Amino acid sequence: MKKLRNLILGVDLLMLCIAAGKIAEHKMLCMVSGMEGEVVNRPSMNVTDLSTQDLVKKKVALTFDDGPNAKYTEKLLEGLKERGVQATFFLLGERVERSPDIVKKMYTDGHLIGNHSYEHVNLSTLSDEAAVVQVNKTNEAIYKVTGEFPEYIRPPYGCWKSNLDYKTTMIEVLWNVDPLDWKTDNSDAVVQRVVSDVEENDIILLHDASESSVNAAFQIVDKLQKDGYIFVTVDEILFD
Ligand SMILES: [Zn+2]
Repeated sequence: MKKLRNLILGVDLLMLCIAAGKIAEHKMLCMVSGMEGEVVNRPSMNVTDLSTQDLVKKKVALTFDDGPNAKYTEKLLEGLKERGVQATFFLLGERVERSPDIVKKMYTDGHLIGNHSYEHVNLSTLSDEAAVVQVNKTNEAIYKVTGEFPEYIRPPYGCWKSNLDYKTTMIEVLWNVDPLDWKTDNSDAVVQRVVSDVEENDIILLHDASESSVNAAFQIVDKLQKDGYIFVTVDEILFD
């Protein structure tokens, strides 16, 4: 059922990619889509390496786009640490350069850091050369802070061009659950949308760009942990 839903949403994604290129407003318009990404085979963990508790837990990934946010990201990092949760952050290069200390903390806390372009542009509307500049400038900004080049990209608006798979080394990561948190300040509504829609191995899209989104993230973690979910970074969803 979920595959069918993702297929249908994939058509929406294409339409929105076209529309997003025409929209002047810079506000995030990231939309619902099926999860995509290259899948490679890696050795699987021996079952005896896992505790019984891990075996019964359902994996889910929290992802945050558009940061680092000078006002809200640190509060988010504190709350995730209290809850023992590691998330994935898709960062904008220009904001990494403005708030390197937040990115450093994010990295030392063990979160996975990915690329979200340099200045939140629709990469599918750019020339390949200009798109590659957006990707590489962001990777370099992150490398300067963490000493590690990101492997994953979430393109703004979910709009990627397949030929960029050959011109960059990035692995595209989309999402399965989008509560449209950037559209509302009602954190309860965001929580409700996520917990009613989420399934095992889903990737949840949020933005560390408002008080309500941060509060919603904490409530989502508290609720789903009680329901037997374990929060992992996206690489563990895509490759394990
Ligand atoms: Zn975005």
